[in-house]
Amino acid sequence: MIYQCKTCKRYFYRKFPIPSGKSYCYKKAKISDVVLVSKDWNFISNMINNYNTSSKWGFTTEELSTLKSRFSGIEESIFDDCLTGTTCILINNKTRIYHCDIITALKCSLEKRSMRAGELD
Ligand SMILES: [Zn+2]
Repeated sequence: MIYQCKTCKRYFYRKFPIPSGKSYCYKKAKISDVVLVSKDWNFISNMINNYNTSSKWGFTTEELSTLKSRFSGIEESIFDDCLTGTTCILINNKTRIYHCDIITALKCSLEKRSMRAGELD
């Protein structure tokens, strides 16, 4: 489940619905400031696929770090592992990371798990 903190505007993942009476934002926002935005990964997939990247082929590293700053709770080592060895392309001397690879990296790093067999290229 994808939630958004209304205070810092960041998105974060929870496996189970957030019980009432607790603070969950990484920046300690109150529970009332946290809203459910999606019960599945479609929200993330749509956000990445419709992201305003400078090339339709993928994200530059700068665009990727801007995207990542919109999330809380990304496990960096998992995120990097997911992108290690993936295919990149070079456009205007900049490495582009494919949208689909970023979606997988986000899913795994937010869920804090390794890639599943079907998610490998
Ligand atoms: Zn917050």
